[in-house]
Amino acid sequence: MSNNAKGILIVISGPSGVGKGTVVDMLLNRLNSAVLSVSCTTRAPREGEKDGKSYFFISKDSFLKMIDEGGFLEYSNHFENYYGTPRFFVEQKLAEGKDVILEIDVDGAGHIREEYPQALLLMITPPSREELVRRLKLRGTEDEVLIEQRLARADYELSHSKFYDYTVINDDLEQTVENIIKIIENRRRAKK
Ligand code: ADP
Ligand code: 5GP
Repeated sequence: MSNNAKGILIVISGPSGVGKGTVVDMLLNRLNSAVLSVSCTTRAPREGEKDGKSYFFISKDSFLKMIDEGGFLEYSNHFENYYGTPRFFVEQKLAEGKDVILEIDVDGAGHIREEYPQALLLMITPPSREELVRRLKLRGTEDEVLIEQRLARADYELSHSKFYDYTVINDDLEQTVENIIKIIENRRRAKK
């Protein structure tokens, strides 16, 4: 796949609640060339999440079948659920010259790095742990137990920062988005 890819594969990771979804929405509004890969998951939709937009919400059986058929570019399992990137969409868009954004966890990013070494890996970190907790609670989509689970996972995610091309601290939102756009533009220039 890497040979005919004209676009940039952009991986965005970071702990739950750091602001990945917010940042990605702003990037998509500002970058004509970029599209978002919608992942499949076996977790239940949160309030307001639409099938096909936030995720494709599928059953565990369907997910396992898709794994067998080689339908995922990468997948991982955490919080007792599966999450995966459908292969076809990503390969097609990259070949068309689009930049494709994957919002995935550190395990998935590791698989992408192996299969696709030219991918641009960006880790988004919070300005502090207190602020991460504040944002997770602010979002109000999870109960206390799930918030604890996500905080425990945050340390694991952040410990992988060194494997990423860039770490971007999401303090001021506008500045974060500007910084990421500059990184992508630099990569595009280097690719030519
Ligand atoms: P993630 O996708 O990483 O789980 P979200 O994008 O859902 O995180 O953001 C979690 C919460 O933090 C949301 O309420 C969002 O509005 C807020 N948020 C995101 N970025 C910032 C920021 N730079 N400053 C303050 N709040 C932010
Ligand atoms: P959430 O349940 O908060 O939507 O996502 C939980 C975690 O799963 C986040 O770290 C998110 O980046 C990750 N994730 C979402 N989609 C995928 C995917 O397709 N593959 C992998 N590996 N992780 C994903």
